[in-house]
Amino acid sequence: MTLNIIELRDVCKDFGEHKALIDMNFNVRKNEFVTLLGPSGCGKTTTLRLIGGFDHPTSGEILFEGENIENLPPYKRKVNTVFQKYALFPHMNVYNNIAFGLKVKKMNKRLIDKKINEMLSLVNLKGYESRSIDSLSGGQQQRIAIARALVNEPEVLLLDEPLGALDLKLRKGMQMELKRIQQSLGITFIFVTHDQEEALTMSDTIVVMKDGRLQQIGTPEDIYNEPQNAFVADFIGESTIIDGIMHEDYLVEFDGKKFKCVDRGFDKKEEVDVVIRPEDIKVVSPEEGMLIGVVKSVIFKGVHYEMIIKTGEHSFKIHSTKMAPQGERAGLIIEPNDIHIMKKGESEI
Ligand code: ATP
Repeated sequence: MTLNIIELRDVCKDFGEHKALIDMNFNVRKNEFVTLLGPSGCGKTTTLRLIGGFDHPTSGEILFEGENIENLPPYKRKVNTVFQKYALFPHMNVYNNIAFGLKVKKMNKRLIDKKINEMLSLVNLKGYESRSIDSLSGGQQQRIAIARALVNEPEVLLLDEPLGALDLKLRKGMQMELKRIQQSLGITFIFVTHDQEEALTMSDTIVVMKDGRLQQIGTPEDIYNEPQNAFVADFIGESTIIDGIMHEDYLVEFDGKKFKCVDRGFDKKEEVDVVIRPEDIKVVSPEEGMLIGVVKSVIFKGVHYEMIIKTGEHSFKIHSTKMAPQGERAGLIIEPNDIHIMKKGESEI
């Protein structure tokens, strides 16, 4: 008995000459909150459409609880979708929008009333039954769209950038709300976004994609702390990426000096990409620094200062609560664990 509710096996999708998905392989466990994350055009929506049954893979298989669902039309899959444009019926009130699917199934009115009550309290819109869709805010409409999808009791809910149209504050509120709903119902969510912070906040597992290919799959912590290539390192959070050369004894050379790092089995003398996150660089006095540079710019960002410090050859982006004045010399310290070494050539972004 598999614990995976959805499995993608070697899934490819071509649109004419264009390869939208190439050998996609990943599993989704029951009750998991999985996010497909990647830049525009990387194939996120295509993946959701294949799982929902709105389109078919060119090759490969999609399994639902271990069974190939290729021949099941969307309405027979135990999957519901919430799109970015909520697709609510504007001429119907809230009650009728949520009740639509249940009426089609000819459920009796008492049961429909009970379910709608439950759904409206779940999305914190109790008492909104007779409101028209037009009279609701974007966030409220979004919650009605979610209630309408959940009332059908899908085992998996697919959400395609459902928060994309909301302003930042509402979006943050809805992120928490969605996570709460998912946890209280214990159903599986597959969520699409191109916003890395949103993915890190909400997900149990993140599937990072680029150009139709899987780049990395893991928990938010894994993806952030142990990016497997420079694309992931740069897309999830910011990074300075520079050329380096591996040496013996866990040493990597850049800026004409050797630094301790975590060696992941690279050949000696191999040219590598060295990836360093802005928050992992400590700014100290020039005397204390492993590297010495000149502060090129300082921007106040509220929680930290964003500085560009240029050493001999490289410009490092740094996030620090301590400010070094523009034009002055400063020292930099980076812990070996924070000097990430990546295979060269995987850094084209
Ligand atoms: P976005 O974040 O912009 O929504 P996405 O990651 O969801 O992007 P997809 O919509 O899955 O990307 O598209 C993947 C690629 O496949 C894109 O290059 C897109 O132009 C192409 N594509 C998608 N649907 C079709 C189609 N019906 N016909 C031709 N090409 C398509």
